Amino acid sequence: MSVPSATSFLYSMKLGFLFASLLTALAGAADFDLLITNAQIADGGGGPLVQGSIAVKGGRIVAVGVVEGSADTVIDADGKVAAPGFIDVHTHSEDICLIPAAENFLRMGVTTIITGNCGHSRTDVAKFFQEIEESKVSLNVATLIGHGSVREEGMGGSFIRAPNAEQLAVMKGLVDQAMKDGAVGLSTGLIYVPGSFAKTDELIALAKVAAAHDGIYVSHMRYETVRIFEALDEIIRIASEAKIRAEVSHIKLSGPTAWGKAHEVLAVLDKARGEGLKITQDQYAYTASSTGLRQTLPDAALEGEHADFVARVSDPKKKAEIIAKMAEMRARQGRKDYGYAVIARCRADPSLNGKTIPEAAKMRRGADTLEDQIETIIEIEKQGGASAIFHGMSEEDLQIFLKHPLTMIASDGGPRRLGEDVPHPRSYGNNARVLGRYVRELKLLTLPEAVRRMTSLPAQTFHLKDRGMLKAGAHADIVIFDPEKVTDPSTFDDPHHYAEGFEHVIVNGGVTIRDGKLTKKRSGGPLRMGQ
Ligand SMILES: [Zn+2]
Repeated sequence: MSVPSATSFLYSMKLGFLFASLLTALAGAADFDLLITNAQIADGGGGPLVQGSIAVKGGRIVAVGVVEGSADTVIDADGKVAAPGFIDVHTHSEDICLIPAAENFLRMGVTTIITGNCGHSRTDVAKFFQEIEESKVSLNVATLIGHGSVREEGMGGSFIRAPNAEQLAVMKGLVDQAMKDGAVGLSTGLIYVPGSFAKTDELIALAKVAAAHDGIYVSHMRYETVRIFEALDEIIRIASEAKIRAEVSHIKLSGPTAWGKAHEVLAVLDKARGEGLKITQDQYAYTASSTGLRQTLPDAALEGEHADFVARVSDPKKKAEIIAKMAEMRARQGRKDYGYAVIARCRADPSLNGKTIPEAAKMRRGADTLEDQIETIIEIEKQGGASAIFHGMSEEDLQIFLKHPLTMIASDGGPRRLGEDVPHPRSYGNNARVLGRYVRELKLLTLPEAVRRMTSLPAQTFHLKDRGMLKAGAHADIVIFDPEKVTDPSTFDDPHHYAEGFEHVIVNGGVTIRDGKLTKKRSGGPLRMGQ
């Protein structure tokens, strides 16, 4: 009678275990908050993978390698790769508070983004960061202060000129305040109005302000065409005269006339580095770019308000000048027409989304001659414009840039809502594409090297403290992925697919993706310079 049955014995064992766990939890006695076991660790430094565990406590990594101890949460990595969370240094995420989970980034392993690129940013960085804090975002968000935005605010409506002394002082003040509020540097977009009207000395003056706060100068350069060498001279001059680190954004060669010059471009940058300048570059792994369709129009047509553009194209003489300039632009890039441009998002007419310009011309005008294509572009801009995808690069150049040891992997994308518009697939797949296509299939890079370009290299370049490496003391941004399965199913025709192969994603110690599923954890926030 006194011998307990097997079931009740097990039951009391279970109760005892639960009781012990409860005591442990009450006393906070587990050694770690999180323990990742059985991982192949790519620590971000580029060295060979090492088998081991990673322990996390209080949002930081406390041990890597052979780890003994208990934890509140244990994730068995099952032999998959554990790497630092990826840092995407080139994004356009001003709308992050509207899409705070930013699942497209998380699911390709990105845990930190830098926004405010190509000269376009929020100018009140303190307010931006406060909004991010209130919206409970999933990622760490750093920002640059955008030169174009500063110019718009500081120059008051007229841009085809240099700022006067007073306006330049206002612009410097805006950069200074943004840097004090935690921006990581100054960005320019020198193909975009109004940044395109700035002369180099204006950029040097503002870059000096960013340099005084240890910021970096990040540039979508003036030319990515055959004239790229003039643009390289300019960024090198700015880095040298403002004594500032510099980053070439989304390095590329656009248009058939520019193709084949990747080695020459890298040689210019390597020479500048050899002379002591700190210059790096980033790249997305696609041969198409994406920006406003208006970039097919000359700057002079776009200066000022929308009404100014409408007035210009309504004046036959001015319109003829614009069309002549468009022909010049096409000739320089070696293009016969606009078949390389695909509309991504036309607010006034969503039926055009996903169509090439010749297709759109046919839909709207019944014909797709060059004249019809030009009229269609002007018409779309008159109705409020559209974003577009431009199939303009060569795969060979892309691979040469990708192989360079100072090329970071960055999407040039932003947070996406699944199913909305026909965006560039890079926002869903960039990092996965590098790991799947360029590491596993083409063997252009080793896995640890690709991880380094997504983690420690960006952290070192942008001075992001305690990020980008799996080591004791670092913030616990960790991704676990299957190197055999990682892939980017999103395509230009059908972009709304999350990357595959990422099983667990941890941001500042918070498990945000667990077993391939999004949790409710939102442990990101503003990432201020030096924090
Ligand atoms: Zn850009």
